[in-house]
Amino acid sequence: MSRPARARINLQALQHNFSLVQQAAPDSRIMAIIKANAYGHGLISIAQSLPAAAAFGVSCLDEAIALREAGFDRRIVLLEGLFGPDDISLVCGYRLDVVVHHESQLQWLAQGQLLRSLDVWLKIDSGMHRLGFDPGSIGDIVSRLQQIPQVQTVRYMTHFPCADDLDNADTHQQIETFNAALAAVEGERSLANSAGLLGWPAARADWVRPGIMLYGGSPLGGRTAESLGLQPVMTLSTRLIAVNALKQGDAVGYGGDWRCPSDRYIGVAAIGYGDGYPRHAPTGTPLRVNGRAASLVGRVSMDMISIDLGDEPTAQVGDEVVLWGEGLPIDEVAASATTISYELLCSVGSRVQFSYSS
Ligand SMILES: *Cc1c(COP(=O)(O)O)cnc(C)c1O
Repeated sequence: MSRPARARINLQALQHNFSLVQQAAPDSRIMAIIKANAYGHGLISIAQSLPAAAAFGVSCLDEAIALREAGFDRRIVLLEGLFGPDDISLVCGYRLDVVVHHESQLQWLAQGQLLRSLDVWLKIDSGMHRLGFDPGSIGDIVSRLQQIPQVQTVRYMTHFPCADDLDNADTHQQIETFNAALAAVEGERSLANSAGLLGWPAARADWVRPGIMLYGGSPLGGRTAESLGLQPVMTLSTRLIAVNALKQGDAVGYGGDWRCPSDRYIGVAAIGYGDGYPRHAPTGTPLRVNGRAASLVGRVSMDMISIDLGDEPTAQVGDEVVLWGEGLPIDEVAASATTISYELLCSVGSRVQFSYSS
């Protein structure tokens, strides 16, 4: 029998979430962000289920080339642009758009052999101070880009660090900074990730760039995915491989730091940090056994976790355990493990068996 750790990917939920993006930003084109193997869901399968996305955003050439080789003809944007001057031939050969966020990239483009014309997304640092040009330099940068004959269309983008916090006025300030920097410049604009497009109407502009909301994670602090109408796309599950009757005081798992508070049944499920389940998920992290709420106890092992089944033997070997997804919002698990849904999704390992349903 194969290992029971599974990721079921619900493509209908993906399409539903995409339709919520369309409803929230009806006048914007959608660049579906499918970097990091589509947030761990499988690059090609996710791309195939997003026929109305006008563009795909990815983080590296490998992902872009995989999409082209799978037959996608759409605009594909390298969100971090060139990693070195040698990338130029592949970028041109595969007809990719590049983000230009730094002086070094501008020089590589100006000095490189561009085999064909190329579209550029100029990234402006409106206050995150990670990637992008200073707003005051945009006029100069644009004219330098325009001097490169193969650079065809230039679009403009920025990124928000705090859009998930609807009370944080920095996002409002960033929108103003971005618009002011571009007051004298023609061209399409893109500001908003998932949080930006749901929470900040002024950020929708010509293109929106949703990531996490496509996969059903909540992008807004203090709002559940369900309250936003989002549906979970990935359900991570496995099965019980042992159910043991333990006595009060028995220690469970590595380090022995969790002990049974009373006589009880402890289940062992076949999933662990070797599958991408977070090792730092503490005792009490929610999961579901046969559709009923249960919780993790003791330390997460590489291949296994222990589960408190209470004082009645309600579950047996072979029963299903859901780690997150349908019936258990990933944001709850992430909060318990002091991380975010993004990291949990991206970490799901290759030995988990993926299946896709539409
Ligand atoms: C990852 C990313 C996004 C998507 O962000 P979400 O919070 O997942 O919606 C949008 N824009 C850029 C530049 C990104 O890197």
